[in-house]
Parts: sequence; C-alpha cells; structure tokens
Amino acid sequence: MKDNALLTPHFALREFIESATARKYGIDNRPTPEVVANLKRLCIHTLEPLREKLGVPIVITSGFRTKALNNIIVHASRKSQHMTGQAADFYVASAPSTGSGSGSTTGHRELLIRALRLIITEPEIDFDQLIIYPSFIHVSYISKETNRHKIMTAQGDGKYCRLTKETALTLN
Ligand SMILES: [Zn+2]
Repeated sequence: MKDNALLTPHFALREFIESATARKYGIDNRPTPEVVANLKRLCIHTLEPLREKLGVPIVITSGFRTKALNNIIVHASRKSQHMTGQAADFYVASAPSTGSGSGSTTGHRELLIRALRLIITEPEIDFDQLIIYPSFIHVSYISKETNRHKIMTAQGDGKYCRLTKETALTLN
C-alpha cells in the first residue's frame, strides 16, 4: 500500500507512519500489512466518524510506532498499542476563520474536549482506550468484541487516573 493511500476519506496512511523521531534516529517505521489493517479499523470505527461529527481536521501527532521507535519515546508504554497500529495521538485543528474577523476562534483545549465528548457519547464512534492529555488525546481501537471502553487522564510522569464516563464528561 502506498503511503499516500487513503485509509478512509479523511485519513491517509502517511499521517500514521511519519515520525520526526524515527527520521532523527534513522528508524525504518514502515508498517506490516497487519498494522495497516489495524490502522484502517481505527480510522473506520473511531477517527473518521469523529472527523465527520467535528467538521474540522484532526491532526495525527503519533500513529504507528515500530518497537524500536516506541523504545526511545519517553513514557511510552512497553505494551503500547501504537506498536500494532491500534492507537493514535491527535489534536483538533482550529476551524478556519470565515469572513472578516467577526467570528470567535475556538480554542485548542475546547476542541479537544469537544472531541472527547463525541467519542464517549456518539453511538457511531467506538474505542478501546481513551487517554486525555493536556494538549492531545490518545485513542485506540481493537474490535467491537474486545474494546474495553477505558477512559483515563494523564497525570504526568507516566501516571494515569481512571475515569468513569460521567466524570470524563465533566472535564473542561
Ligand atoms: Zn498515544
């Protein structure tokens, strides 16, 4: 599969395999067909329906990581779902401004919270694990049968706090 191939209408494979860190350390971050299949499932069941509901671009900051790449990332879990193409980190791009300066700009955090609420509440959007960081969201997808619907906030220093759906919806 070519890097510029689309996994779903709004997501290209390239967005999930490009890594500045991999380039810096000369790591070959090419995915196996199995990884590509997992990334495609993540797009179909989580990211693409989220993108449709949001109406603004989702920016992938980290998708697939080979074991070698994952090993050099600080605080990355040794069992990270990034290594199987089942997880991605993203933020939501600000909506392009329309007209001449009268529109209010939606903040970065506000858009992230909007995405979080959609993932939790929209029946068309499924997920396995959701981790909320100050400036991005980590989301994973395994399969309809095995998704755990686990929600956590990152506390820094590699520590996490488990949240109920209800508590997660009160975050701002
Ligand atoms: Zn992640």
